[in-house]
Amino acid sequence: MGQAKNRGTQAERIAQAQAKIEASRPQKLVCNGCGADVTQINPVSTRGLRGLEAIWVGQCECGQTTFAASGDPKAVEAFFFALSENTELTLGRQGQDGEGHETA
Ligand SMILES: [Zn+2]
Repeated sequence: MGQAKNRGTQAERIAQAQAKIEASRPQKLVCNGCGADVTQINPVSTRGLRGLEAIWVGQCECGQTTFAASGDPKAVEAFFFALSENTELTLGRQGQDGEGHETA
């Protein structure tokens, strides 16, 4: 009700940013551990990660965690490289269906 007369595009911008992230949400990931479909996928903040548009983490019922990331291919590469140094994580490098990020 008490909406300030804020030219108020900030909320819109946030909504747009979230919509963009949602649009990049993979429909599913494939578990690296057991190969099952992982549909429980949550967005991870990309704050401070330049070039990354979205990071997704899928938690399989078997306990395995699978990541997906989208954005600048180099940034994605760097992200997975950084993760690969963490031996507790087994990583999946997966694009989403219909994603237009071909490496040219
Ligand atoms: Zn699994």
